[in-house]
Amino acid sequence: MHTSFIEISESAIENNIRFIKNHLGEDVLFSSVVKGNAYGHGIRTYCTLAYKHGVRHFSVSDANEAYELKKALPQKDISIMIMGMIDNSQLEWAVENNIEFYVFEIDRLQATVQAAKRLQIPAKVHLEIETGMNRTGFVVKNIPNVIKYIQENLQYLVVKGVCSHLAGAESISNYKRITDQQKKFRNAIKKINQYDFLNPDFHLASSAASIRYPKTRFDLVRIGILQFGFFPTKEILVHYLNKHKIFESPLQRVISWKTMVMDVKTVKAGQFIGYGTSFFTNHETKIAIIPVGYSSGYSRSLSNRGKVLIRGKRHSIVGTVNMNMMAVDVTYAEHVEKGDEVVLIGDQGDREITVSSFNDYIQIINYELLTKLPDNLPRVITK
Ligand SMILES: *Cc1c(COP(=O)(O)O)cnc(C)c1O
Repeated sequence: MHTSFIEISESAIENNIRFIKNHLGEDVLFSSVVKGNAYGHGIRTYCTLAYKHGVRHFSVSDANEAYELKKALPQKDISIMIMGMIDNSQLEWAVENNIEFYVFEIDRLQATVQAAKRLQIPAKVHLEIETGMNRTGFVVKNIPNVIKYIQENLQYLVVKGVCSHLAGAESISNYKRITDQQKKFRNAIKKINQYDFLNPDFHLASSAASIRYPKTRFDLVRIGILQFGFFPTKEILVHYLNKHKIFESPLQRVISWKTMVMDVKTVKAGQFIGYGTSFFTNHETKIAIIPVGYSSGYSRSLSNRGKVLIRGKRHSIVGTVNMNMMAVDVTYAEHVEKGDEVVLIGDQGDREITVSSFNDYIQIINYELLTKLPDNLPRVITK
C-alpha cells in the first residue's frame, strides 16, 4: 500500500506521439528523450507504452539510464542513444549492447576505439559539436583532425550522427545566440559532408526548436517534454497556437498524481497548525491530513501555497509541507472524510490542477517538478 501513486494515461501518450510524428513529417526521425526517469513518468512504464505506440528511437543522458531502458525494453528493434555521461569503463558495455553515444572530446574517442578493438565490434557514435552552448562538444576548427583520426580507425567506428544542442530555443530573448548556433552547425555540416565515407544523421533540435525553428529539424529531432503533454514554455505554446490559428493545446497531460485523506479534524480558533508558526487559525478550521510531503517530491516551498482537489473542489495547503505529510484546509468543504481521493496533479470532476500551475506559486519549471517525483511511487497505467 503506497501513500500516493502516479497515473500514466496511455491515450494521452498515443495522442502526443501522433502529434509529434505529424509535426515532424515522415523524413525526420523522432527520438524520444527519456532522461530523468522519463521526466518523472517512470522510464519502464513510459517507454513500454511509447514502444507499443510506435517509438523506436530513445535518448537518455547517461549509461545508467541506458542500462535501465535496456532492461525495460529488451526488444532488438530499438536504438538507444546516450547524450551525456558515459565513463570509459562503461564503453565496452555500450558497444557490446549496440548502444549509441555522444563523443565530444578526443580522449573518449580514443577510448571508444580501444573498446571496439578489444571487442572487434564497431562502436556507434554521435560526434557532438560545440556551437555556442559552451558545455560539451568538439570545436568546429578541430573537425578535420577528428575526422582524420576517425578515418584511420574506420573499421572500429560508425559515425551515426553529428549533433549539437541549442542554448535556450524556448525564448525569443535568446534569438541572436540561437541563430548564431545554427550558422555554426551548418558550417560543421558543410565540413563533414566533404568526407564521403561519412553519412551521419544530423541533429540539433529539441522540442522548442522543432516548433520555433523548423529548419533545425535536419534528420532527427530529440523530443522530451512534448511527449508528456507540455510545451517547453508558454511562449512556445502561444507561438504554436498563433501559427496554427487554434486556441487549445493539441497535447494532453500524461501524468496524474493522487493520494487520499488519512485523517480529518477540527482545530479551534487561535492555534498553529503543524511545525512552527507559519499558519494560525483565526477561526475554527477543519483540516484534512494527507500522507504526501517533500520526500515524495511535493516541494516544501509549497507550504501555505499549494492547492489540491478533494471532492471536486480546490483546497489550500495550510502550514508547512512536512517530509511525509501535510494539512489541507477543508473548512468550507461540505463533506470530507478519511479515504477520500486527493488530487495533487490532474482532474477531479470538472476541476484540474495543472503541472504549470505550480509555476504560479513557486519558481519551478515543469521539467524540474516532474523529475523530482521519486521512482518509488507506483506508476499505474490508465486509459
Ligand atoms: C533534454 C534534452 C533534449 C530534450 O529537450 P526537450 O526540451 O524536453 O524536448 C534534447 N537534447 C538534449 C541534448 C537534451 O539534453
